[in-house]
Amino acid sequence: MKILTQKIIGFCKGVERSIELLNNALDTYKQVYMLGEIINNRLVVDSLKKKGAIFVNDIEKIPNNSVVVIRAHGESKENIDYLNQKSCKIIDATCPKVQIVRDEVVKKEAEGYKVLILGNPMHPEVLGFSSLIKNKLFIDESDNFDFLSESDKFFLVTQTSYNYNKHTIYAQNLSKNADIQNKLVVILDSICYTTKERQNSAVEIANQADTVLVIGDKISSNTTKLFEISNKICKNTYFVTTISDLKSVKNKESIKTLGILSGASTPKELVLEVIKVMSELNKTEEQKLEDQNVNEQKSKEEQFAELMEKSLTESEKPIKPGEMREVEVVFADETGLRCNLVETHRKADMCFIDKDEVEMEGDYDADKYKPGDIIKAVFLRHENQQFYFSKKAYDKRQIENEKAEKILQGEDFKFTFHRTTPNNSCLIGKMGDYSILVPASQITFRHVKDITKYVGKELRLRILPPEDSENKNTRKRTIFASQKLILEEEKASKEEAFWAKIDVNNVLEGKVKRFGYKDDKPFGAFVSIDGHDCLAHIGDLSWTKIEKPEEVLEIGKVYEFVVLNFDRENNRVSLGYKQLQKRPHEILAEKYPIGTIVKGTVKEIPEKGFFAVIDLSEDEGIVYISEIADKFIESISDELTVGQEIEAKVIGTERFNKVKLSIKQAAPSKEPAEKFSKSTKENSKHKKNQQTESNEYISSESMGATLADLLDEETAKKLKETAKNNKK
Ligand code: SF4
Repeated sequence: MKILTQKIIGFCKGVERSIELLNNALDTYKQVYMLGEIINNRLVVDSLKKKGAIFVNDIEKIPNNSVVVIRAHGESKENIDYLNQKSCKIIDATCPKVQIVRDEVVKKEAEGYKVLILGNPMHPEVLGFSSLIKNKLFIDESDNFDFLSESDKFFLVTQTSYNYNKHTIYAQNLSKNADIQNKLVVILDSICYTTKERQNSAVEIANQADTVLVIGDKISSNTTKLFEISNKICKNTYFVTTISDLKSVKNKESIKTLGILSGASTPKELVLEVIKVMSELNKTEEQKLEDQNVNEQKSKEEQFAELMEKSLTESEKPIKPGEMREVEVVFADETGLRCNLVETHRKADMCFIDKDEVEMEGDYDADKYKPGDIIKAVFLRHENQQFYFSKKAYDKRQIENEKAEKILQGEDFKFTFHRTTPNNSCLIGKMGDYSILVPASQITFRHVKDITKYVGKELRLRILPPEDSENKNTRKRTIFASQKLILEEEKASKEEAFWAKIDVNNVLEGKVKRFGYKDDKPFGAFVSIDGHDCLAHIGDLSWTKIEKPEEVLEIGKVYEFVVLNFDRENNRVSLGYKQLQKRPHEILAEKYPIGTIVKGTVKEIPEKGFFAVIDLSEDEGIVYISEIADKFIESISDELTVGQEIEAKVIGTERFNKVKLSIKQAAPSKEPAEKFSKSTKENSKHKKNQQTESNEYISSESMGATLADLLDEETAKKLKETAKNNKK
């Protein structure tokens, strides 16, 4: 016997959810009220009653402060308000599909639409949502469209369990008539997917089967509709509420093709039980014996699992988050896209793409999407009987896949990893359908021990060549990548660029990284040029004597340095800083131009000296004996005293950072003749004197601290040596 079943069996998701919520409430509160029965199925209702559920039709029978579960059909506004007045705790198990209808009618009425309701006005679901609005009209399937004169725009909503074909035909007629009268009609496809699916299957199955069993309760309207549909096509259609009803099925053993239909309120277990019993009835004695042998070898759990697996039709096998599916837009509104799954085994499932999950860029625009549009989307989650999808995630995945293809062709890329492999040997991440792996040895120049510190950081990557990845890249959709390859390449090209700049006397900018000390003695500053460490020796930092590099340079600051010498083989570059600075006497020369008249105070007249030191406030000057007066002077003390204020002319600078001054040249000039004869006379004296000065200068060992103070150590040493030689 061949058995044909619907693609969806068992409770619909809305009923399943309401039963679950009621069971949860019973576990917590022990006694829970419900207005009306939870589903039109006596078996289920009886078992819930035993657990403590109290089903009442009269709201007055619900005591104050009770716990009340609202069934899947939803409840009227008046009843909800009344329960609130009674301080009842309300657990809302309204089916999400019904909730959409409730929300839509309220919204459309607020937008000025007259709401047309196609369905049974006394059905609890219709009673519930119609109570939320005032501007409404209950309609039937008649051809009378006179009501179109009552408004300019209409919103058609249909009971979720209504006959889908009848709804479609009526909606088409309504649209045609509205067009003629130039009226606006918006139609909500509110028929529940499970109703459509089961009714369509009923037609298909009844056409193929010689006997059809409609399993469910006769008080269930959707099961009764299935019976009506099937019975019109196949006269051997039976209503089966319990297993014992199978007795009435005629010629069971000779059934060739058996059709099984069930309503949204029929438990799956009952359907499976009926299938099992009918299969057994139809088996030959040999088959029964064979099954018995096989079953004896299997554990009870295995048998159960097998039965469950078999019982799961394709439609019920769960979609895993991240899987891609095609969905068909049913309607688009400002909340997002309501869709059906395109694939046949899950057709008409209730899918939703939230407005924030539609576009990758730009704002979502409902007008862009039309009923019938096919969209590829990624499954996110199953929640409250809805399948949540993301078009945005699919689009992003496509872009990432294209990027991965380019990476496979050798394009460098950036990537931020959010986790590591379980053994912490690699960073791992997803790019579209590809996995990206970076081994710890490929993150930087050295093997990284703790790769977790790279989690959350962006790396620059390149695919590893097959020889380095041990052909790992050939693994399906796995890309082994390396940051080290890029870093090494960059380092090599930086090195080249650096050495190309290095030549003696080249001036380069460098950043002071640290100061060098050996045995607590400073020896210089390490300077980074393009990331390369160079050394500026302390002797090359200043023209004056310094104790430590900090006196001239500051760590972190950028200065200009001159390359003094370099050794590429040993990776050494010596820099000079002072060579780019003015010498002290040059600075003095700029500050005191020749010919300038300055004022100062005699600071020191060295004993037996041939000069006087002048205090110029910020600097010091020096006046040689020959520049003190226009006459021969035996001793400076005859003309000057320490502390005396003088006026002098700048005539140059001294090597020892002194301004060379002349007092006599600053004095007012005398008569030319007198001056000439005197100067001629004294010139010879002066020359002699100068000679004496010079001799004294180079031979004097008695200059002691006074002259030595003016000289740097090196120069003083040289002068002393010269003096010694002259003596010889
Ligand atoms: S609307 Fe559909 S899913 Fe919801 S309760 Fe009704 S039949 Fe079930």
